[in-house]
Amino acid sequence: MLKPRPAPDAPDAPAAASAAASAGLDRLKAALGPEGWSQDPERLAPKLVEWRGRWRGATPLLLLPRTTEEVAAAVGICAEAGLAITPQGGNTGLVGGQIPQGEVLLSLERMRAIRAVSPDDDVLVAEAGCTLQAVRDAAEAAGRTFPLSLASQGTATIGGLVSTNAGGTAVLRYGTMRALVLGLEAVLPDGRVLRGLKRLRKDNTGYDLKQLLIGAEGALGVVTAAALKLFPRLASRAVAIVGLASPEAALALLGRAKAESGGAVEAFELMGRLGVGLAVERIPAAREPLAQLHAWYVLIELATAAEGQAEAVLEGLLARALEDGLVQDAAIAASQAQAHAFWALREGQSAAQKPEGPAWKHDVAVPVAEVPRFLAQADAAVRALSPRARIVAFGHVGDGNIHYDVLGPEGGDPEAHAALRDQGSRAVHDVAHRLGGSISAEHGLGSMKSQEALRYKDPVEVETMRAIRRALDPKGIMNPRVLF
Ligand SMILES: Cc1cc2nc3c(=O)[nH]c(=O)nc-3n(C[C@H](O)[C@H](O)[C@H](O)COP(=O)(O)OP(=O)(O)OC[C@H]3O[C@@H](n4cnc5c(N)ncnc54)[C@H](O)[C@@H]3O)c2cc1C
Repeated sequence: MLKPRPAPDAPDAPAAASAAASAGLDRLKAALGPEGWSQDPERLAPKLVEWRGRWRGATPLLLLPRTTEEVAAAVGICAEAGLAITPQGGNTGLVGGQIPQGEVLLSLERMRAIRAVSPDDDVLVAEAGCTLQAVRDAAEAAGRTFPLSLASQGTATIGGLVSTNAGGTAVLRYGTMRALVLGLEAVLPDGRVLRGLKRLRKDNTGYDLKQLLIGAEGALGVVTAAALKLFPRLASRAVAIVGLASPEAALALLGRAKAESGGAVEAFELMGRLGVGLAVERIPAAREPLAQLHAWYVLIELATAAEGQAEAVLEGLLARALEDGLVQDAAIAASQAQAHAFWALREGQSAAQKPEGPAWKHDVAVPVAEVPRFLAQADAAVRALSPRARIVAFGHVGDGNIHYDVLGPEGGDPEAHAALRDQGSRAVHDVAHRLGGSISAEHGLGSMKSQEALRYKDPVEVETMRAIRRALDPKGIMNPRVLF
């Protein structure tokens, strides 16, 4: 989908448009030089398919700029020629926003420099194409931590993480990407550079423009670099798996953990029995974490500065919770290997359910206190449609974020289950909305959920978002398939 925009009264509009588009592509190639673009099908292929194969795309040209100035030149040419652009980072997004459907594909893969690390400021400045792992390693090397953590961190990039406002497992303590960015450099849809790489903790000089670009999914410009907040490295860590009877018990334990640890809870992840069972069955070398099976499990991680403190706090918390009957069983990891094994059960929840056939997948958020009600009401709504459907619910319960996946009945017809997906997802999203929730907690809307989101978002909010987009991108060239 090249999007040239000829004057409405042009006598031969389609021909003029196609000539303008093709001249635009030639100008892009000339501006970025031979290393800065590709049309080689083999080079393009991995960038045109989403990792699960759910979206396949097409592009007339892959752009590979190396500097912010090159990004600015490319976007400026696209704006003049009316060529639409899809930015792409690590291509780990889960809602299809990074896969072009005919737009020029702008990859940040050659912009991978860590521009600065300043331990005194607790700031690291990274270019958009840096992977999260590279940023975490650079922070560690400077004696600090960059706390964002997710299973795709070896491939996901800073540009993508900013643009999706990524969450992950440490949001409870450190917040999402919105809370971790101090400044941004970005190329606006007309090719101008917004030089906002501030390292300030305080700056009351008007609108916080970086927050518009965070979570914008590439709709308001191309992120080229970010100034990120660093934190002290915490030497004492403890991880446990807990068996519980209900999500209500998990919430009560969360409340105690936050209070008794003085805010040291880094992760508090809920998993249902079915998901743990599938992970134990399918992850190589995985074992049941507790002697008995439980309806629900929580993986809890605490981190503190003083040696041995995290484990002591976790032991005390769990001992009291066991005594009070709040939890049914618990095991604290005795080694790093065991901690990794506990985390593997959590991180394997998606992969382990894959052989079960098509799933209706959801990434919802509700107020934390509503999590038990959400789970009960969503289960009822799903079973009204498909009485023997199997539910794998897991996620960052401390953030009210549940990944709510619905598998087909055991031995059932996968196609029949897939055919009910839209109806089923609507029912699950309706429950989240009724409880004051969101249909996208951390993955964004992309091309997958943007239409669906219109059903739930406040019309004034949508119109305000559209007005901002029109103001910044009057030609509508930036990632036209995402958001509104
Ligand atoms: C195994 C696995 C686990 C995951 N776990 C989590 C999780 O726990 N929490 C979570 O939040 N997400 C998770 N994700 C989703 C994904 O990793 C994140 O959405 C991540 O932020 C995407 O980064 P990326 O570099 O791959 O971006 P891409 O997939 O390339 O792009 C994502 C979106 O950002 C836009 N974009 C990319 N780069 C730029 C840029 N420089 N400027 C402007 N727009 C840009 C794209 O156009 C697209 O709309 C997971 C994904 C996988 C595969």
